Amino acid sequence: MSKYQVNEKGLYGRFGGAYVPEMLYPNVENLKAVYLDIINSEEFQKEFKRLMVDYVGRPTPLFYASKLSKIFGANIYLKREDLAHTGAHKINNAIGQALIAIKMGKNRIIAETGAGQHGVATATACALLGLKCRVYMGEVDIKRQAPNVARMRMLGAEVVPALSGNRTLKDATNEALRDWISNPDDTFYIIGSAVGPHPYPDMVARLQSIISEEMKWQFTEHTGKALPDYVVACIGGGSNAAGSFYNFVDEESVKLIAVEAAGLGLDSGETAASMARGTEGIIHGSRTMLMQTDDGQITEPYSISAGLDYPGVGPWHSYLNEIGRETVLAATDQQALEAASLLTREEGIIPALESAHALAALPMLKDKFKPTDNVIVTISGRGDKDMATYIHRLMPECE
Ligand SMILES: *Cc1c(COP(=O)(O)O)cnc(C)c1O
Repeated sequence: MSKYQVNEKGLYGRFGGAYVPEMLYPNVENLKAVYLDIINSEEFQKEFKRLMVDYVGRPTPLFYASKLSKIFGANIYLKREDLAHTGAHKINNAIGQALIAIKMGKNRIIAETGAGQHGVATATACALLGLKCRVYMGEVDIKRQAPNVARMRMLGAEVVPALSGNRTLKDATNEALRDWISNPDDTFYIIGSAVGPHPYPDMVARLQSIISEEMKWQFTEHTGKALPDYVVACIGGGSNAAGSFYNFVDEESVKLIAVEAAGLGLDSGETAASMARGTEGIIHGSRTMLMQTDDGQITEPYSISAGLDYPGVGPWHSYLNEIGRETVLAATDQQALEAASLLTREEGIIPALESAHALAALPMLKDKFKPTDNVIVTISGRGDKDMATYIHRLMPECE
């Protein structure tokens, strides 16, 4: 058991835990009692791995980016989660949790979504596995993310608007929790990132750990070496980063770099950098770093990237950052856009805006790189969903 992993109490140091209303306690306890046995069972592993291969298209490639390597003065490899079915890493987790739901005898799935990416991944897993699916989404987000709402509906999911509060992600989460309290017997709540009450952050990290499991053997296949020097990933709630770091966290020589969204700048007041600018508190059932006012009201984060626009971060990352095992950088909207342009022009890959934040770490680290260093950057998703933003910011003449 890794010293960096969650303990029996669901804590990472003082972060994590399960701060849930009493009415939700039985649901969370029930999941906690069974999730490890299910995930570790031969039957689950066989089914999960088969779907990862035949349906999701795994293993996703590890690509040696020769032109980026020349530009940044180190060997740069890209882990291509953008090539997974539905275009991002989120599908790994959605299928994994849907399979756990089935093992627990539950046939109704609920989820909440902000940008709609997790909603699409969940609706996809439910269509595949024959599960009923209801996705809560803030009314404002439903308007902002119309193409993803259409995808979810086409996949057979019911999309329910959250009409309270700011009518965004936080309000959709509240609606989903209310639903779960009312329907504990047949309903499983699929959370889309490494956040929420224990055991969700650990469960999501384990399901996404397939990313670093593949990275490890693929890196050895490429180089004949056991370990890279750096692994870099962007961080919203922290699931693609958790999956990318999972199998390297005990290898102290591997530097783990998480990149938050600085938005308009760390000190602009318009940022989503919860570790650089947040304070400790409780959000969505766990103790972690989050953006809040002095009297504890959660503040609206801002990032150009919808997937990083979350006011907290998973508790594992708060912990790894505090003890110095993970280095946290922040990239602004502008730096992410420049990184996306560079990757597109040099390697012919249009990344998701989220993933562009991870790439934006390369110019920040360039002076530290030695020519022999091996760096893996996770490209968490593809940029199709972000074309309107890219056109607006990079090619306004095409609008
Ligand atoms: C949702 C999303 C993210 C952010 O979520 P994490 O849980 O931090 O990984 C990053 N990249 C893409 C492509 C996403 O869709």
